[in-house]
Amino acid sequence: MNAKIKGLSGARAKKLLEQFGPNEIIDLGRISIVRILLRQIKNNFIVYLLIVATAISFAVDKDITAYTILAVIVIVILTGFIQEYKAEKAIEYLKKMVMPVTLAVRDGEETEIPSREIVPGDVIIVRMGEKVPADCVIIEASELAADESILTGESREVYKTPAPDPDNYGDGNALFAGSFIVGGKGLARAVHTGMNTKFGQIAGMISATEKTLPLQAKVNKIVKFMAIIGASMAILTGLGVLFTSPINEELVIDVLILIIAISVSAFPEGFPVVLITTLSVGAFRMAKKDAIVNRMSIIETLGETTVICTDKTGTITKGEMTVKKIFCDHKTYDLGGVGYEAKGDFVRENRVIDPEKEKVLALFLKTAVLCNDAVIKPGEIENAYKTSGLPTEAALLVMAAKAKIFREDFFHDRDEELTFSSERKMMSVLIRDGKNTAVYAKGAPEVILDKCDRIRKSTGVAKITAKDRARIIAEAKKMAQATYRTIALAYKEGECSGKDCLESDLVFLGIAAIEDPPREEVKEALLTCKRAGIAVKMITGDNLSTALSIAEQIGLEKGRAMEGGELDQVTDEELIKIVNEISVFARVRPEHKLRIVRALKENGEIVTMTGDGVNDSPALKEAHIGVAMGINGTDVSRSVADLILKNDNFATIVDAVREGRTIFNNIRKFATYQLSCNYAELTIIFVGVLLSPFLGWPVPVLLAIHILFMNLITDNLPAITLGFNHSSPDIMEDGPRKGSGIFTKDMIIALALSGFIMALFTLGAFYFTYSVLGQSVSDARTTSLVVLILLEIAGAFNFRSFRKNVLGRSPLANRYLVYASLASLFATAMVIYTPLNKGFETTPIPFWDWLVAAAFALAMVVIFDILKKINNKKQYLRFE
Ligand code: ATP
Repeated sequence: MNAKIKGLSGARAKKLLEQFGPNEIIDLGRISIVRILLRQIKNNFIVYLLIVATAISFAVDKDITAYTILAVIVIVILTGFIQEYKAEKAIEYLKKMVMPVTLAVRDGEETEIPSREIVPGDVIIVRMGEKVPADCVIIEASELAADESILTGESREVYKTPAPDPDNYGDGNALFAGSFIVGGKGLARAVHTGMNTKFGQIAGMISATEKTLPLQAKVNKIVKFMAIIGASMAILTGLGVLFTSPINEELVIDVLILIIAISVSAFPEGFPVVLITTLSVGAFRMAKKDAIVNRMSIIETLGETTVICTDKTGTITKGEMTVKKIFCDHKTYDLGGVGYEAKGDFVRENRVIDPEKEKVLALFLKTAVLCNDAVIKPGEIENAYKTSGLPTEAALLVMAAKAKIFREDFFHDRDEELTFSSERKMMSVLIRDGKNTAVYAKGAPEVILDKCDRIRKSTGVAKITAKDRARIIAEAKKMAQATYRTIALAYKEGECSGKDCLESDLVFLGIAAIEDPPREEVKEALLTCKRAGIAVKMITGDNLSTALSIAEQIGLEKGRAMEGGELDQVTDEELIKIVNEISVFARVRPEHKLRIVRALKENGEIVTMTGDGVNDSPALKEAHIGVAMGINGTDVSRSVADLILKNDNFATIVDAVREGRTIFNNIRKFATYQLSCNYAELTIIFVGVLLSPFLGWPVPVLLAIHILFMNLITDNLPAITLGFNHSSPDIMEDGPRKGSGIFTKDMIIALALSGFIMALFTLGAFYFTYSVLGQSVSDARTTSLVVLILLEIAGAFNFRSFRKNVLGRSPLANRYLVYASLASLFATAMVIYTPLNKGFETTPIPFWDWLVAAAFALAMVVIFDILKKINNKKQYLRFE
């Protein structure tokens, strides 16, 4: 950065922030409210059905029923709306948990500030991988390239140059908010912020396109299927009744009422709402564990993951780097200190030395600070630095700081620079100090060595010999095998112009060995993956020896290892054959990642892949789940990722997979449960019709309004809470579920069985009260309704687990289910014992009837507990 630029003062920036407001794109929330509301009506088949039901009810003079159904329509639309709106808000909220920051110059200092606090006039430093926070005019640029596809639709990089006149400049000298820096770096002054930016003005047009979740599509399919079953059964039954009885007006009315009852009984009205609720609760649970989902739809796929491809640096390792050894002038120095600690001695052959007195070492340290873009500042923790920028570079600054060498000690006007990229694996700068110029470079040892023809020794600069090279390579290998990350430094003095000159004929200085220990949690997480049948592949830009020794330390399953160079030699077809056997890929470039994902996908794997660099985007997009890093990743990678790890930690991916599996299991539980209720209702009505000529029963046994009440309230509330079930400890003990739908054959058998028992008991209750005790239709209906509601509540407890018993297990295992059951009972009492009973056509039944209903419910629990016990032993039905 040009040292003369001071930027805004803190006080001025504060004033400007008040004047212009925060640098934010205001979400056009109101439009989406209308859209969500309309969607409730548009895609909701039940709403149409209920409208028809209302019309029929009015037509047959059942006004109270008609109004009640109208109220139900409002409830259906509102609950759907509230849930979906909340889900959208949840995602919005989650996105805010990963706050973008910008490096700005304030009061002459480079400071990281939240991007929303950028004001017009701010001088900002833009670097590769970052999202441009505001519309800016460029002051300085080095190889600066932006991807402006969000504004122009064209996804090619656009090169940018400084504006000759800051008041009169074209697009080629400007950066626009919302675009990404994909190459080089620069200094720019913010001109417009927030809604005044180009992006702000068109944000409404490009606001997130709405997509249907795959899960939602699956649920919709089930709902449609049930609707078709319901409607066809309704019509068939209606026709059957019409043809077997003498037709009169009363019969037609009865048949119409019957048709509605059958249709609504088969229809799981609450289903989509429960799905959305389950997913958003899951997304929040994940967020608590630092895994932020960008889209709800990925939760399902996460649970199916069969392969995790992970970076090493910062994800498997802590990413908090410390230089522990230096090899230069053919001598090895050890360095004290942990993490970014400011203190640490330079030791050679067990003696503390003064680094400034060792000529080559001092030049090595100078190179490390000048060919460097990181910033270190005294931190809050005593004796530790606060760092920003790349951790590797920060480690080099801290190394030099231990010798009291800082960037500020030198003139450092950069005339030229070639920035670091994972492809080139090196970086070089041309520094002018008065009339003198010098090149300083750093990078992967083999890359740097390749560019050197000389070596610096204490005796002076000498031609680099084959023996020197061999010694350096051996030393680098030794360091890598001891898990160190290695970085070599080189320089050259004298006039140099043009990029080519910057990276040739260099003088080799030495190698820094950087410690980056594995995260403690990784070992355990890898064991979990092994048990869960998930393969883990380490894909790193670092060298093979370092990668292998870290892999061994963390207990990564042994397999073949392959380097990027070798990968270049194999064809895609060959890669498909061998990719599953390889567990470590080293010295890879971003394009290799893309090939690896594709090969794995060809083999039918569900791939979760991490990436932090600008050029990782294609691989992140290609993977089923692209994972970006919250701390050290680039904005570009975060913008395409499905999942962001707030803590950059590999173990968090495994937690997210666990959560994904749990959520899908819960979806299966509530889906099985809700359909079992629908199945029971349908059977009750249908069998009731068949029995009516023989037993003189009224048709239908339960009214449409009763069924709606159950589907929307008394079975819906418990269903929602089934979505809250916590993971079972053994959820990561089985292999991944591969792309199966919500229902398996065995689940359908379980739900049919449950539905059958509920129907049998309810019909039994109706027979006993109506046919045996001779109660009125209304009394018998109310008792049967209570029986069915209690049975459905018992069913929810049964479906809390497909394997574990209800009795003998604390009912509080899911305490929300207990609350939901109480709420359902309360609602039932309301429609029976308050004036609402007119609308619901119920009568206040004696308390005794409730006890009988409870006995039925208990019986169902016992039956299921016995069946589960038998099935656990014999495994007639398998629940993944
Ligand atoms: P991973 O892909 O696991 O995150 P990585 O971060 O080590 O691995 P790269 O960032 O591509 O992968 O680094 C590759 C090599 O480039 C490193 O081993 C190091 O030698 C060198 N290197 C890393 N950072 C820099 C840098 N800022 N300047 C110059 N060289 C660097």
